[in-house]
Amino acid sequence: MQIDLHTHSSASDGRLAPSELVARAAQAGVDVLALTDHDGTDGLDEARKSAAKAGIQFINGIELSVTWNKRTVHIVGLNFDPDYAPLQAGIQSLQDFREIRAREIASKLDSAGIKGAYEGALHLSGGNMLGRMHFANFLVAEGYAKNVRTVFKNYLVNNKPGHVTGDWATLEDAVSWITGAGGVAVIAHPARYKLTRTKLRKLIKDFIAAGGQAMEVVSGSHCVNEVKTMACHAVDFDLYASTGSDFHDPDFPWIKLGQLPDLPAKCKPVWDLF
Ligand code: AMP
Ligand code: MN
Ligand code: MN
Ligand code: MN
Repeated sequence: MQIDLHTHSSASDGRLAPSELVARAAQAGVDVLALTDHDGTDGLDEARKSAAKAGIQFINGIELSVTWNKRTVHIVGLNFDPDYAPLQAGIQSLQDFREIRAREIASKLDSAGIKGAYEGALHLSGGNMLGRMHFANFLVAEGYAKNVRTVFKNYLVNNKPGHVTGDWATLEDAVSWITGAGGVAVIAHPARYKLTRTKLRKLIKDFIAAGGQAMEVVSGSHCVNEVKTMACHAVDFDLYASTGSDFHDPDFPWIKLGQLPDLPAKCKPVWDLF
């Protein structure tokens, strides 16, 4: 079984339309797929219809932006009812912040001599969720950097000209929107936050107290050792384990859709809950 429970489409900051993403997943032999766009559910209907045609089991997903202890962390939601009103209200509040932040990012870039970034990023977003990836693509297109990795490092992170501090949902709210909608909350790519062991365990404890049930163990952004460490944490805290590539773009060679190692045998797969 090939399972990928963390992917993005053009409804957020992915390159492919939801139907194109599903077609690519089918080609890659994916059996179970979740679309987890940032702070939005607009791509789910199209993806679900395409998945039904392609014979892929489709799971509703989302990746919510959260501010926890002054840091941004991501919480994936899986297998929920997208029509749950508090979830949609929460999404709206996150999208409102995205709009404010985009204007701030653009104004900071403007001060650094880079003109027209808001319009440029908005155009690249296709009027959907507006995120840093759209600014990154704009800056690459304008020749400020050779690829999005460099552009993030030099422009869009802490202490760089286009950085704006996140002011996202609380961990408690984000988890409750997902669980209230009948879904499972999952800590996304836990090794990416570069937390000390103590801080990571604090995040996991707070997450469990809020009603969270799972964490990503296998992730496109986890190396082999990180998979092992995260498997230990999942077992220690009796959390279910998830697996997802975090695929965004066929032109990013470092992440392949659906090509993921198996979960370590000691883990409880999150899909046992579906
Ligand atoms: P946002 O939620 O708008 O702040 O954007 C976060 C997204 O930017 C992540 O989901 C990634 O798609 C992308 N991203 C963040 N950091 C990097 C990086 N260093 N290199 C490439 N993409 C990144
Ligand atoms: Mn992204
Ligand atoms: Mn993420
Ligand atoms: Mn993601």
